[in-house]
Amino acid sequence: MKHIIQMGKKVLRNIAEEVPHNEITSVRIQSIIQNMNDVLATQNDGVALAAPQIGESYRIFTVAPFIFDDPSDEHLIYINPKIIEQSEKKKWLHEGCLSCRWKVGDVERSVTATVHAYDEYGKEFTQTGDGLLAHIFQHEIDHLDGILFIDKAQNIRDMTEEEINDVLEGTNEQRHV
Ligand SMILES: [Zn+2]
Repeated sequence: MKHIIQMGKKVLRNIAEEVPHNEITSVRIQSIIQNMNDVLATQNDGVALAAPQIGESYRIFTVAPFIFDDPSDEHLIYINPKIIEQSEKKKWLHEGCLSCRWKVGDVERSVTATVHAYDEYGKEFTQTGDGLLAHIFQHEIDHLDGILFIDKAQNIRDMTEEEINDVLEGTNEQRHV
């Protein structure tokens, strides 16, 4: 099992590479996607993960199925994602990052964002997210550009031991990306 790379490592600061379209279905890229999903599934509070967070400098992120009412109907894998539209209206949201254990802070992001991307079969799609999903899109695409939430967050603080234990036991509602 791959582990989640923590801040301080260069791979989190690189501009990740686009996946050539004809390589999306290759064994190499498919196994990266599988590894990302496996690692994300180990994190009680994890709602999304970008490929650089497992040390793979590719423009891919994955979203956890459990944030959707009907995940079978949703796109969970985003390859070469680009934000093509985002609302001027912004909102501050409490955020944390699986690569910045155990910090939280407030980040201002657009309340809706539309992404153009390719799925794991190489098919292109656009998806509009609002609320948590919009924040996820923006946080994950920042990862692909070498940006961490601590670069833009305010009120950054370390979580308390009690809060961390709640996360590890799955009883903390704060979601990390
Ligand atoms: Zn993150």
